[in-house]
Amino acid sequence: MKDGIVELAGVTRSYGGVEALRGVDLAVRAGEMVAIVGPSGSGKSTLLHIVGTLDRPTSGVVRIAGHTVADGTGGALGDRALSALRARHIGFVFQQFHLAVGVSALDNVADGLLYAGVPPRERRERAAAALERVGLGHRKGHRPHQMSGGEQQRVAVARAVVGEPDLLLADEPTGNLDSASGAEVLGLLDDLHAAGTTVAIITHDGEVAAHAPRRVRVRDGLIVADERAGDRTEVGAR
Ligand code: ADP
Repeated sequence: MKDGIVELAGVTRSYGGVEALRGVDLAVRAGEMVAIVGPSGSGKSTLLHIVGTLDRPTSGVVRIAGHTVADGTGGALGDRALSALRARHIGFVFQQFHLAVGVSALDNVADGLLYAGVPPRERRERAAAALERVGLGHRKGHRPHQMSGGEQQRVAVARAVVGEPDLLLADEPTGNLDSASGAEVLGLLDDLHAAGTTVAIITHDGEVAAHAPRRVRVRDGLIVADERAGDRTEVGAR
């Protein structure tokens, strides 16, 4: 399926005796914006790690951007193949920004292309364009400590999208921001979505979730609802 960016079927993940995911089916198509929402401990981070190819499932099928990460019969991509897949197809935004300290906004964003085999000069040109895109063209030389939290998160968004990933994964992207800066960052994600980027936002915050046209609710390791603007589908308990 060409436009299936995320395809999970029967995904479980256990940590010792704890079943963090208990059989998750999830399909996200190219161009969607989806919030994955649930209370603390519901399995969101585990799901983020699996969708972001930072972790493999205990069982089940995982396909990301057309690549089979886990085939459901024990076959799975190795670490090198997973990092290559991640570098090419997925951009990450985290609650804590994770910018390099003492490094300019431009170089922080350019580093987003380090593993994509782009020559240094082109990295910086593309980084400059990405910073313009997030409204920070005037902050290229600023280092993280010289910027507000909202600006730092916009730099992190620029870094995540500079490689034009198939999927932008944002983990509580407004969790460390005041409400005005949070709204700005959400607006930026909206703009990227409108321009065609597939966006998944992981959050426990109902207001952030309400922002997305599709909301997937996770509870106790299962998807319990999958809602789109205008309708509501309850997913039966297994
Ligand atoms: P959320 O992100 O929604 O807070 P998590 O995915 O972090 O949920 O956790 C889901 C469940 O899995 C919780 O019960 C948590 O304690 C457990 N869990 C998560 N990661 C680990 C781990 N590395 N080792 C043991 N248990 C874990």
